[in-house]
Amino acid sequence: MQILDGKALAAKIRKEAAEDVASLKSKGVTPGLAVVLIGDDPASHTYVKMKEKACEEIGIYSIVHKMPDDISQDKILETIEMMNKNPNINGILIQLPLPSHIDTQKILQSVSPAKDVDGFHPFNMGKLVLDLEGFVPCTPLGVMHILDEYDIDPKGMNACIVGASNIVGKPMMNLLLNRFATVDICHIHTKNLKEHTKRADLLIVGVGKENLITEDMVKEGAVVIDIGINKTKEGRITGDVDFEAVSPKCSFITPVPGGVGPMTIAMLLSNTITAARKQ
Ligand code: NAD
Repeated sequence: MQILDGKALAAKIRKEAAEDVASLKSKGVTPGLAVVLIGDDPASHTYVKMKEKACEEIGIYSIVHKMPDDISQDKILETIEMMNKNPNINGILIQLPLPSHIDTQKILQSVSPAKDVDGFHPFNMGKLVLDLEGFVPCTPLGVMHILDEYDIDPKGMNACIVGASNIVGKPMMNLLLNRFATVDICHIHTKNLKEHTKRADLLIVGVGKENLITEDMVKEGAVVIDIGINKTKEGRITGDVDFEAVSPKCSFITPVPGGVGPMTIAMLLSNTITAARKQ
């Protein structure tokens, strides 16, 4: 069994990103990222702080628009429109989830597709489905980079994705399909989950349920990617896979923390640099 070290790979990508930023700056371009953060969800605040720090470390200009929980939808749309027009801003990120009175899709669709570094706009999602170049959501893109780094070729593999959200499972499905894996995608209404996971040469899990994937659900020699982030009763961060029991059966497995998480931020930096280059 080999550990897929997302932390080390992310560090390598961040170093390359710092060099790219330095080269852009020497041509008079400073990549800029704007983040919209609404409400006071502690997890969202932590993620945004991590993103700000990562930008600062490599020389990307970043600005966070913090807004109260009861902000009106029109005010958010106005702020996004301002950023769409601001030439110093190359990437715009809407930190999810948004409060329930806000129409998330309407907000995501108001971001200019050219600045949509999270790849959540239908224009970029459509490009992903058609296997055309565009912005790809950071977490599934990070997973593809991990696979490539370890020479794991999805072509012809039976891949099973557990979790079918718009930001994780669905783009993951398209990325794997574009690389010719045979993809099975499961969700809360899937009957007999084990029947699906057990067939997988490549098992990718992004649900948010501690120990959802147990040893008996995994094929011998499978590659297992754990996207889930959960906090245990003791306050430890853990994924969706019972790592201790499952890892001896795997050919490769990502740890949590230190697997997919660091790659998500690295991909955000690299998407922001791409946006700056193109604009
Ligand atoms: P979500 O709640 O939007 O989606 C969860 C998905 O899991 C849904 O498709 C749902 O149908 C499915 N699901 C729920 N219970 C299930 C069950 N018992 N069996 C099978 N499927 C089930 O969540 P999300 O935003 O996609 O995030 C999923 C997880 O990934 C969370 O733990 C989140 O913290 C984590 N995440 C991690 C990163 C990262 O950088 N590592 C990034 C994004 C999300």
